[in-house]
Amino acid sequence: MQLTDEELLRYSRQILLKDVDVTGQLKLKASSVLIVGVGGLGSPAALYLAAAGVGRLILADYDKLDLTNLQRQVIYQTNQIQQTKVAAAKQRLLALNPLLEIEPMALPISDDNIESLVSSVAVVLDCSDNFLTRELINKTCVTLKKPLVSGAAIRLQGQITVFDKRHMESPCYHCLFGTGGEQELTCSEAGILGPVVGIIGAMQALEAIKLIVGFGQTLVGKLLLFDAATSCFKEVKITADPSCKVCGTAQNE
Ligand SMILES: [Zn+2]
Repeated sequence: MQLTDEELLRYSRQILLKDVDVTGQLKLKASSVLIVGVGGLGSPAALYLAAAGVGRLILADYDKLDLTNLQRQVIYQTNQIQQTKVAAAKQRLLALNPLLEIEPMALPISDDNIESLVSSVAVVLDCSDNFLTRELINKTCVTLKKPLVSGAAIRLQGQITVFDKRHMESPCYHCLFGTGGEQELTCSEAGILGPVVGIIGAMQALEAIKLIVGFGQTLVGKLLLFDAATSCFKEVKITADPSCKVCGTAQNE
């Protein structure tokens, strides 16, 4: 695989970075990312990954766009209300970067489709908003040993981490959040400020680019918490739970 003159120019500002270079750009071009949920987090994540030249993006979301989404889901336009989000997002991403392959999937993630989706990509971005989906994505990423960039945000708080079971010491989503005993809050009930999901979604794209190109340190083993009221980040060390029923050693007994 090679880069065309147009690609060399389009991506020139990041190819200038020693950490990316032509080699890294070729890795991005050859790579695929699955984005589950094209809402507040998935919008900036998809835009940045498309702009950066990730060759193939799979977008999974079965929602239709409504007026209340536009306050934070910056990939969409007012005249796209009532369209399926993945169809609307595909239009926008191809307008941004026509060199890519964008695969929209307007079906819920389920046991029937998750394995084939995850197995075909290099990195998975969890930009979803419900616990069952998060658990299903996590279980599949653990089984298939795919890196999972997990983001969440509610009210004025955001968080992001990377689960990567290619490294033994990495926790999984279940190690951290268990069976989700707490009540599940959604943005429609609790509220959310647009830039908060913007920051976390952009960081999810950043982690994906680092994982694909292979530079720097990802957030494996670290949960990064963002408080929008004080604009402060806090980092919490997280470890694998040996008794985790998804990834723990106990599961083999
Ligand atoms: Zn686990």
